[in-house]
Amino acid sequence: MVKYIFITGGVLSSVGKGVVTSSVGKMLQFRGFTVTAIKIDPYVNVDAGTMNPYVHGEIFVTDDGGETDLDLGWYERFLDINLSKENNITTGQIYQTVIERERRGDYLGKCVQIIPHITDEIKRRIRMVAERSGADVVLTECGGTVGDIEGLPFLEAIRQMRLEEGYENTLYIHVALVPILDVTSEMKTKPLQHSVNELRRIGIQPDIIVARCTKMITKEALEKIALFGTIPKEAVFCSYNVPTVYEVPLILDEQGMGDYICRRLNLMPKQINKHEIERWKSYVNALKNYKYTIRVALVGKYTGLADSYVSMNEAFKHAGAACNTRVIIDYIEAETFEENPEKIDMLKDYDGIFVPYGFGPRGALGKMMAIQFARENDIPYLGICFGFQLAVIEFARNICGLKDANSTEIDERTPHPVVDLMPEQQQIMYKGATMRLGSQKIIIKQGTLAHKLYGTTEIYERHRHRYEVSPKYVEILRKHGLVFSGVSPDGRMEILELPDKFFFFASQFHGEFKSRLGRPSPEYYGFVKACLDRKIGKEKLEI
Ligand code: GLN
Repeated sequence: MVKYIFITGGVLSSVGKGVVTSSVGKMLQFRGFTVTAIKIDPYVNVDAGTMNPYVHGEIFVTDDGGETDLDLGWYERFLDINLSKENNITTGQIYQTVIERERRGDYLGKCVQIIPHITDEIKRRIRMVAERSGADVVLTECGGTVGDIEGLPFLEAIRQMRLEEGYENTLYIHVALVPILDVTSEMKTKPLQHSVNELRRIGIQPDIIVARCTKMITKEALEKIALFGTIPKEAVFCSYNVPTVYEVPLILDEQGMGDYICRRLNLMPKQINKHEIERWKSYVNALKNYKYTIRVALVGKYTGLADSYVSMNEAFKHAGAACNTRVIIDYIEAETFEENPEKIDMLKDYDGIFVPYGFGPRGALGKMMAIQFARENDIPYLGICFGFQLAVIEFARNICGLKDANSTEIDERTPHPVVDLMPEQQQIMYKGATMRLGSQKIIIKQGTLAHKLYGTTEIYERHRHRYEVSPKYVEILRKHGLVFSGVSPDGRMEILELPDKFFFFASQFHGEFKSRLGRPSPEYYGFVKACLDRKIGKEKLEI
């Protein structure tokens, strides 16, 4: 019998529900159970793909090409599983399906309503993920905050699931903020109490409460939460600030949360997975204790919101942990260089320059200036997706002499469209889910840096783009020394490198989406290693 755990949030959003959900999964994995995780996003968008990362945070791409909420990235990184687009449920998807059925006549004669038709569809999707994954435990995180109007049908559906699946097979975890007042240093539990009340009003009594606080909550605060939450003291836990989020499963387990969940769900620990616990602890240690530090300049345009680049940040941490190195990332707004070209000199103080994904013309020139600076000063460079395309354009302009070369995404009338809309994109009218998405095969050329980094000639990486290097310009770029060391079976340029540089590497794909603690993305690893080698004066990259 599959067990369902539902995670709700109170007081504020962005309170760390994703990390708590992932940590619950990790604690269950420590006990030998298999898990999967679902994120519910109550917005009306069908998926996250059409949202601005600057507002909503990064769009996480799954193997099967889902453009999903960034929490799926946390689940994948913590649980080391590959999820599907079905693991992200939105209001848009639910209504689209129900309305399509209604138009087909499936409900003929009936009045179609939120209860039961919308709630049934929500439950169907949760159960479908359970069935397809075959996991022992299905974690479902409800996005937003309890009390949001748009979240109500989802909470109603999970309320019904207790009735249908039984008490022993369902568990509600409520995560809420406990602020500390500056003036008195007091921990205030009142907002949390209110959010529990709100949940109860809907008919859900939490089984477990996780207080999110900067520090471990005091005994008094814990007792208050238990009393007003109507749960035993043993069911109150605290997710306090730790140096690395990967430590959260360890601190919650230490407080007894893993055992409590198993007891409550009648899950007999299969076999304590000592190996996994030790492995996790050693990675956490590696993240906290490093010998070296490097500084990387991330030149982008969504720099005001760290969540826009969350998978990239984590990929740098994974790579750093493997190199005994802390990677400090400074976010630099690309337009700074367009407005004040002399400021480009600041980049010489960095151990590496990184240009991430991006869309549209704003900041593109500034990014290219950073790429040119990296190339000319032989500072290690890594480019991802847009950072790959812009490296090609910079090379075309400054090395191949193709004046005003550009991407048609930036300048439709460029005389040299070295990056152009993919032919199959020309006819596409809809913006949603129509990019080249998800896992795609790449053939790697033997003897190249890419071959050294990946150690194989065939890889699969995740994609999300509409434009590509135009096949018409490949020859001239190659002739001038640009090496395309990875190409897709249908002939698309996927990886570039400049062999005479210390490290100059870029990919059309996003290595960060598959990066895991203990299994860093090879391109991020290679870059971090090169930054470090150059800093400590080693000759050239030795993988
Ligand atoms: N805007 C570019 C494209 O659509 C790059 C996309 C990206 O960086 N993910 O091809």
